Amino acid sequence: MKKELMDILVCPVCKGELELKVEEENGQEIVTGSLYCRKCEALYPIRETIPGLLPPDKRP
Ligand SMILES: [Zn+2]
Repeated sequence: MKKELMDILVCPVCKGELELKVEEENGQEIVTGSLYCRKCEALYPIRETIPGLLPPDKRP
């Protein structure tokens, strides 16, 4: 995902602000990392540039 997406991304559960943790990036693109919501303590993984924003209780 592009770093600019952080400006519009919010937690799908509580609409809180997300904190980005980058593990691997390629220019302006985040390849691997995670998005963390401080408000409800949900963690959303980023894998192969795709942010997985499914709420934790909706994951398979
Ligand atoms: Zn949240």
